[in-house]
Amino acid sequence: MINPKKWTLKSQITLMIGAMGSISLVFSIFIINLYSHQILNNQQQALQELILQEVGTLQEKNANLLQEFGLRLQHNPIFKQAFKKRNVNEITELLNDEFSQYYITARILSVNKIFVYDLDYNLVTASTEGDDFGIKGEICPQTIEVAKKRTGSSRVKTLESLCYHDGRAFDSTILPIGSIRPHGYIHILSDPVFYLKKAEQKLKLPLKIKDANDQLIYETPNWESLLTDDRLLLTHYIYDDNNKRLFTMLMHRDISKLNKQSESIQNLIIIAVILVTLIAVLIFIYIFDTLMLKPLHSLTQQLSLIAEDKNKLGTELPLQGSREIMHLTSCFNTLHEKLSELYNSLENIAFTDQLTALPNRSQLQEILAFHTNLNQRDDTPFVLFMMDLDRFKSVNDTLGHHAGDLLLQQVGERLSTVVRKSDYVTLVTEQDSSVFHMDVVARLGGDEFAAVLPAVENLEDAKIIAEKILQVMSKPFVIEGNTFSVGVSIGIVACPIHGRNPELLMQHADVAMYHAKNNRQGFMIYDSEIDKNRIDSLTLEDDLREAIKNDLLSLVYQPKISLKSNKIVGVEVLLRWIDEKHGFIPPDRFIPIAEQSGLINDVSRWVLEHSLTQKARWDKKGIKLSFAINISAKNLLCKSFLKFIEQKVEELGLDYAEIFLEITETAVMSDPVNSIITLRSLKNMGFKLSIDDFGTGYSSLSYLKKLPVDEIKIDRSFVMDMEKDENDAIIVQSTIDLAHNMGLSVTAEGVENKEVFEQLRQRKSDCAQGYYMCRPANSDDLEKWLAESEWGIKPK
Ligand code: C2E
Ligand code: CA
Ligand code: CA
Repeated sequence: MINPKKWTLKSQITLMIGAMGSISLVFSIFIINLYSHQILNNQQQALQELILQEVGTLQEKNANLLQEFGLRLQHNPIFKQAFKKRNVNEITELLNDEFSQYYITARILSVNKIFVYDLDYNLVTASTEGDDFGIKGEICPQTIEVAKKRTGSSRVKTLESLCYHDGRAFDSTILPIGSIRPHGYIHILSDPVFYLKKAEQKLKLPLKIKDANDQLIYETPNWESLLTDDRLLLTHYIYDDNNKRLFTMLMHRDISKLNKQSESIQNLIIIAVILVTLIAVLIFIYIFDTLMLKPLHSLTQQLSLIAEDKNKLGTELPLQGSREIMHLTSCFNTLHEKLSELYNSLENIAFTDQLTALPNRSQLQEILAFHTNLNQRDDTPFVLFMMDLDRFKSVNDTLGHHAGDLLLQQVGERLSTVVRKSDYVTLVTEQDSSVFHMDVVARLGGDEFAAVLPAVENLEDAKIIAEKILQVMSKPFVIEGNTFSVGVSIGIVACPIHGRNPELLMQHADVAMYHAKNNRQGFMIYDSEIDKNRIDSLTLEDDLREAIKNDLLSLVYQPKISLKSNKIVGVEVLLRWIDEKHGFIPPDRFIPIAEQSGLINDVSRWVLEHSLTQKARWDKKGIKLSFAINISAKNLLCKSFLKFIEQKVEELGLDYAEIFLEITETAVMSDPVNSIITLRSLKNMGFKLSIDDFGTGYSSLSYLKKLPVDEIKIDRSFVMDMEKDENDAIIVQSTIDLAHNMGLSVTAEGVENKEVFEQLRQRKSDCAQGYYMCRPANSDDLEKWLAESEWGIKPK
């Protein structure tokens, strides 16, 4: 069984493509993030550079302005004059005046302090305006030190630098007083924050400035509230010449657009990946469906159709789908072909009798089922023959099974020549129902054959065919140089008159066939009358029980003539039942019923009781005859029966050796082991034992050797026609020889004429029994016969 929870290939691959799609989605998101991060970095770098540039520009501008401011002061002739005279008060006054200059008042520059030095950088004076630093001339002394160290032409250049003093940063500008040969220096200290702040407007970005100690110096109003997630924070540091960080400038810029952009790119890529995955899945499903699933599905469908209907076996499956599927299909086709061949041969074996190549019982049943169905539908009549060979066993027993097989083959061939279509049907399938319309001969097993004749519509035609069969079968068969004639008994039924279903038809044909056999009439059309007896077997059983109880049975005796002395040596006791209702009922009919119902022990006791009494009576009269009494196989299996018979013989004081117990070979063979044991004990008691109906059963020689018997009785069917039938004569002769070889005596039954009687004498049979000498007769009639017949004896 296939687990329905198991994944299909399609779902597995779909899932795989889906997983691959998801992985590529995650990967692409990662790449997008990396990319937007890079873009952000670039953006930040560009902005950083912009800030650097802007700060540089502002610094430069401020420096230029300071230089201009300082130049204007030194070019002032009053200042020149005052400096020359070292008029400190005047210089101070002039310096202070500078603070009311346009540059300052217009807030173009922000100056903290102005110092004036002599040529050796000794402070001459400083402005009192501006910031008050308390100490004079000692602001950013390191810049002065740098200026002092300059030599040559560089001494006349303006020296511009940032410096740090006492927790504050300054912009220091040192200018020479005088042009080519300076007389001193002007040192202007200004506040860099003043121009740095301008970056806010220039760059149009919020600004925050922190000093060297990270103390906030300036901050754009609402700095914090403006700084949202969508803004990029930029930091710019400003250092002095000694690499001391003087300021930290912080700015932030709106990057929501950029974010949005990368977000939409990201969404776009996600959609694209999903779409591509979806399309891939769809394309895969389509391709998978057309190349794999559909052809696979139709392949599976075809295969299950074949599995359901064996007639479809061997049908080629169309090659379609992918190469692999086509290959698979072609392998299946080959497999089919082989299977179909195998199936056909199996079916052949199952439906054909291997010996004759005729349809066997199974096929006959199918054929009958077909015809009975057809009959129910269309009312088409047909005829069934049931045939059983007469005396086939003798061939088998005397010439061996191989000869028997050859005979059966010849019989099959002959039977087939009579029916309309001589081809044997070896295989019947529903598809090929045309064969059903032909006449068919089948072998049912053993020496039983049957024929179905759909073309025969009435019983008159059936009779003609039966005659023909009897005729072809009457010609002797030659097997391995030996000539045999084998008779056949035919039971005939017609559908629907004698039945509408196969079972009933076969049963009725069987009844008719046995009737024909028993009456030796060749063929017999089924008649419900003959079957009535059969059906009445239950009432017959009851009536038999009553007959035993009421002593309504009688015995007859048939002489057994010695062929040496030509005189009677004994009689066979035969049971008779003449019923008020049924009239004469042959023992062949009621004995089997008695055997089946268990009544047989009572029957046999009754027979023994009466026959042994008769024997005692004749013994007394001096009529010395052996008594042959028929014993049923069932009796042998009953211990009390043995006791009973022994007791009877003792009671009547009879001689065991004068009592023959006749047992049919079929009876012995049905349970050889137990039969042999019982027969031995009977033998030990002193009874004589006969094998009855020899030649009709299946006895094997090996068993015969083990049986403690004294006599063989050759069945009457071989004896009756032996003067005409060479084959019968051979069988009789070989049986006599066989018996004598084994030290047994032989009685031939069914002697109906003088020729047979004489032949038996020539063939060295010991005794003969038959209508020719005497029909079974009651005790009185037999006594008369004894007195009158040439074979009779006078009482001693
Ligand atoms: P069976 O033992 O083979 O008996 C011989 C049968 O052949 C008798 O038939 C007899 O009437 C018949 N017969 C004798 N001579 C000829 C002849 O020349 N031509 C022909 N066509 N038939 C001849 P019956 O009496 O009908 O008995 C039939 C069978 O019934 C017996 O065959 C035997 O098997 C069985 N049977 C008869 N009486 C008894 C009995 O008392 N007990 C048992 N268990 N079976 C019995
Ligand atoms: Ca007998
Ligand atoms: Ca017999």
